[in-house]
Amino acid sequence: MSNRTTTYNFNAGPSALPTVVLERAQKELTNFQNTGMSVMELSHRSAEYEAVHNGAIERMRKLFNIPEDYEVLFLQGGASLQFTMIPMNFLNEGEKAGYVLTGSWSEKALKEANMLGDTYEVASSKENSYKHIPAASDWNIEEGTRYVHITSNNTIYGTGYQEFPSIDVPLIADMSSDIMSRPVDVSKFDMIYAGAQKNLGPSGVTLAIVKKSLIESAKAENPTVLKYKTQADKNSLYNTPPTFGIYMLGEVLKWIEEEGGLENIQARNIEKAGLIYDAIDSSDGFFVGHAEKESRSLMNITFRLADEALEKQFLQEAKEAGFVGLNGHRSVGGCRASAYNAVPVEACQALADFMKAFQAKHA
Ligand SMILES: *Cc1c(COP(=O)(O)O)cnc(C)c1O
Repeated sequence: MSNRTTTYNFNAGPSALPTVVLERAQKELTNFQNTGMSVMELSHRSAEYEAVHNGAIERMRKLFNIPEDYEVLFLQGGASLQFTMIPMNFLNEGEKAGYVLTGSWSEKALKEANMLGDTYEVASSKENSYKHIPAASDWNIEEGTRYVHITSNNTIYGTGYQEFPSIDVPLIADMSSDIMSRPVDVSKFDMIYAGAQKNLGPSGVTLAIVKKSLIESAKAENPTVLKYKTQADKNSLYNTPPTFGIYMLGEVLKWIEEEGGLENIQARNIEKAGLIYDAIDSSDGFFVGHAEKESRSLMNITFRLADEALEKQFLQEAKEAGFVGLNGHRSVGGCRASAYNAVPVEACQALADFMKAFQAKHA
């Protein structure tokens, strides 16, 4: 029998949500604000739902400090559909799109764009098993580039950009696994997008923050629901949006606000990841981190045990001790702790303690 207090949820996505958010949602699940029905049962054209919808957009604008000349959109199809929609909307004949390859998700984004237009690699750390983020000084941006696409945090390899460059062409970032984990200068980007299920809420909603001028410059001859302009013109209500997911996203944003905003969230994320990285770094090689130190992610902490047989045992014993989701991605193996915003400090402390105790027993 598991329960919420004895389970340490390190899932990579979908992942932990703040307990208070779930409890509040539970409380009003069958009777939302005296409507006599669930938020799931409201018309998406009702005044009650509209308040939920616009409230989430307003909170997002305020907390992430989004300038006025950007749209905040709620889309569907996951971050993966954005891999397609971006080149479909923005990449024209005679132009090319540049991709910085830092892991599996950037590879997937490039693969989709490649089916729709000309692409090239701006930089890549593939040769180094994606252990680092290529320095912006090593980026090669070619003439005629329509946009450069990056993945701000590499969920599978456990690396993340420590800072973002300012470049002369539109910069587009997949922030699926680190959005709202720290303050970001949105004005450096023409577009930021993220599937909600890692740091923002349940799966089913994709957030897109897009500069209005980029939307206006998009190709007109695309299918209606695949155009950013359609959703921008209709405030993401062209068709039925994922209303419950947007409600939950709004509640998660409310929680971030209550926790003191992104500066506080960032400080806590540094503390949390630090506890686990410290267990790796002080282990004398018993635990081996995958990412190079200067490129380490605050969200996904990837490591192996030097002894492969012991690694299996570590994962097994960790599971028995209530740690969930510590297996590395099926494509790379090893171990991964995803310490997203909603994962409490205590869970990271418990994992660091567990790692140290396991080492003491087996080293
Ligand atoms: C999880 C993830 C995705 C895929 O998101 P879906 O919503 O499942 O399509 C894309 N990019 C990154 C960086 C991710 O972490």
